[in-house]
Amino acid sequence: MEGWKVGRWVGRGTSAMMVILAIIPTVQLSAQDYRAQAIRILKTVPLIDGHNDIPDAIRERGGLDSVDLGVSQPKLMTDVPRLQAGHVGAQFWAAYVPVTTMDSGPHPAVYALEQIDLVYRLCSRYPTAMAMATTAAQVERNFAAGKISCLIGIEGGHAIENSLGALRMFSRLGTRYMTLTHWRSLDWATASTDTARRGLSPFGKQVVLEMNRLGMLVDLSHVNDQTMSDALHTSRAPVIFSHSSARALANHARNVPDSILKLVAANRGVVMVNFNPGFVSEAVRAWDDSVTARMARLRAAGADSATRADSLKAWEAAAPHATLAQVADHIEHIRQVAGIDCLGLGSDFDGITEVPVGLEDVSKFPDLIAELLRRGWTEADVKKVAGLNTLRVLREAERVAVEMRRTHR
Ligand SMILES: [Zn+2]
Repeated sequence: MEGWKVGRWVGRGTSAMMVILAIIPTVQLSAQDYRAQAIRILKTVPLIDGHNDIPDAIRERGGLDSVDLGVSQPKLMTDVPRLQAGHVGAQFWAAYVPVTTMDSGPHPAVYALEQIDLVYRLCSRYPTAMAMATTAAQVERNFAAGKISCLIGIEGGHAIENSLGALRMFSRLGTRYMTLTHWRSLDWATASTDTARRGLSPFGKQVVLEMNRLGMLVDLSHVNDQTMSDALHTSRAPVIFSHSSARALANHARNVPDSILKLVAANRGVVMVNFNPGFVSEAVRAWDDSVTARMARLRAAGADSATRADSLKAWEAAAPHATLAQVADHIEHIRQVAGIDCLGLGSDFDGITEVPVGLEDVSKFPDLIAELLRRGWTEADVKKVAGLNTLRVLREAERVAVEMRRTHR
């Protein structure tokens, strides 16, 4: 659709002032036009998503033989047809390790190995659509060949079981980032959900430096503010937040406060914005808290499980929702505080139970890019958010690793 705007031109003649009214055509694009522009852009740069939990979702459903991502999987947020429709160029698949493995069941390291194995097998099952990648150059090569890169990120530093040897072997298996903690603190790093104020221990700082030497990205999603700050002051390479949003807009401990965003700017890292409604919308976050409190009161009053379930159903009918526009607001806030070079996307699809309206699954990434274009972002800037910043961080980490290995083999 095109619109017309009446403009006034003022020209200076030699004898008199001439005022001319001119009709200046301005282009007013429709939502479909912005989406088409977004898709055109995503054909030139790989969109890189920092966090997708499909490996654990597949594991929970009985493994790869029970779930065929090659066909539509409406109960999941991810499948190959929708990854292709969403123009996803590279995906960090989460090798998520539950903190309960610290207490019982398979050892955390074994659980992580099994998740990594699942990513390799998932990727090799769809050879025409996907290919493994461990470097920025491989991501670019796969993209040129029309394939989605599969990258591995371990979620939870308990996976290394306090062993730098295990960390080094995870690196050799192609792991490209490790989230230092999950919901529970370790003795060397503190989780965002912990009330303790401590950050990285001396061993925790050693882990960060060893990750730098290996070229593994240090992921600060899930850690507390002190651990974020300690890691940013320790790391010699840019860090990432693989799936976190801005705390100034939604006051959740999993989000990144402005004071840390400023350190990320100095570090040249990236914050990959999470789509989890409770991290995106302050109303949803407050609502989630109030439901937890109301549930605790019901339990304390002796309400049985059927009564609690009925109450929850009634409350949920009036629950607020997050939107795609609010995700774009987080992107714009982080841009304002940390700069355009520190932005990325980290959906958390299939690791979240609710989704923002308009960002329901992996096919919707172009809609988010279209929203930024609609807000007046340049093509160069949306390319950075989509993937160029993350590619730059991968490459810088690779360069730092080469330098550090010169002196520390
Ligand atoms: Zn997570």
